[in-house]
Amino acid sequence: MQFRSTQSDDRLVSFKDAVLRCLPAGEGLYVPASVTDMRQFFLYMDLDISYPELVAAVTPGLLQGELNPFSASRVAESAFDFEPELKQLDDDLSVLTLYNGPTGVFKDFGIAFLAAVMEELIKNKGFAMTLSAAKGDTGVSIAHAFYKRQGIIAVILYPSGPIRGLDPAFFIQNGGNIIPIQIRGTFDDCQRLVAEAIHDRPFADRYGITSANAINVGRLLPQAFYYLYAFIKVKQHIKEDLIFSVPCGNFGNLIAGLYAWKFGLPLSGFIAAMNANNAFGDFFRGKEYRPHPLITTNSPALDVSQPSNYKRLVAFYQEAPAVMRNMVYPETVDDQATLIALEKAWKQHHLILDSHSAVAYAAAERYAKGGGDFYGHVVVLATGHPAKQADMIAEILGAELEIPEKLRKLQHKTDPVALIDPQLDALQGAIASCV
Ligand SMILES: *Cc1c(COP(=O)(O)O)cnc(C)c1O
Repeated sequence: MQFRSTQSDDRLVSFKDAVLRCLPAGEGLYVPASVTDMRQFFLYMDLDISYPELVAAVTPGLLQGELNPFSASRVAESAFDFEPELKQLDDDLSVLTLYNGPTGVFKDFGIAFLAAVMEELIKNKGFAMTLSAAKGDTGVSIAHAFYKRQGIIAVILYPSGPIRGLDPAFFIQNGGNIIPIQIRGTFDDCQRLVAEAIHDRPFADRYGITSANAINVGRLLPQAFYYLYAFIKVKQHIKEDLIFSVPCGNFGNLIAGLYAWKFGLPLSGFIAAMNANNAFGDFFRGKEYRPHPLITTNSPALDVSQPSNYKRLVAFYQEAPAVMRNMVYPETVDDQATLIALEKAWKQHHLILDSHSAVAYAAAERYAKGGGDFYGHVVVLATGHPAKQADMIAEILGAELEIPEKLRKLQHKTDPVALIDPQLDALQGAIASCV
């Protein structure tokens, strides 16, 4: 598979270059260009396959010439000590649980693979540094995935405010390879600094700088693998159509699902489940996209007014407009419908969802009931661990939730290694003094 910029398709790069350089010159993002059709391969996979086995089996085919089967096995084994889980609820509904990783959100899957594959790509002959903006528990996920990776340093940029969940034993001054730096500014400042540092090529080349944010296609691509996993686990129950219901914020999950389709996964469509921040619904219906002001809801991870994967969605749209219009069904779920879905999933299936997954659950129900005959099987992506919203969910369900120790630890506060102004030279100085 080769990669191109969303801005142009006249220069193709390898997976290694896309991952280690992260951003093409200009304003674009990397997206898959030429892809291998893996359909025959997907259809004959064993029902009992484990997640690391699946990842080890598909990556050599997808990344031909770049990751041989031995490397792929090492990557899959070292990335995943957690797995997705498919729970079938009835004939036409399943839930794909993606919150079993260290921080209890699906983002652990992409980050874990990226860290492991980077270590393999630079093996014995290189070094690299990831520079990433962190919000919520993303920093912890990055620290967990990159800790002790040979030849790699992970710098994590935090906006003003408390920093939680990091273990100081991982930090560079304590013998680790993790550098948390706090920026006197906002999350947007952190993201801007990441892009500026990567585009300063002499500086970026000196340290081998890339990012573990979703701008790195090496984090997005492995998210396609759990769609495949779900397909293998439910395929014997699919009568006609296989539909995925995806809670959408920055649309990383959705674009990864579209890539899975591109690789040959036989699915029929996606429900793009949004909360009140639904400006993208128009885009999927073929209209012009106009960002709306941000609305605060009870599914905060979906409160995004300008999705960071916008450029990738546009690029996909340009390649395959009919696919986008006919395979992506936008649904909007408001706060009240989210709470009702939470309650319903519990009463009908004894299933505890978080609010983000409940948005996708509500959208799936609505979709299956609407539009006449439906012979499909819908897989709802459960993206967040319900224990992360224990108080809210306990109130709705009237039941106490047990909070796993690893999620409890996410609340501990830590101090950064450095505190700097939101300027590139300040960041470059801080990096130089740490390594
Ligand atoms: C990040 C996040 C989402 C949104 O995913 P995108 O790929 O940004 O669309 C949904 N649910 C949870 C729990 C998240 O953390």
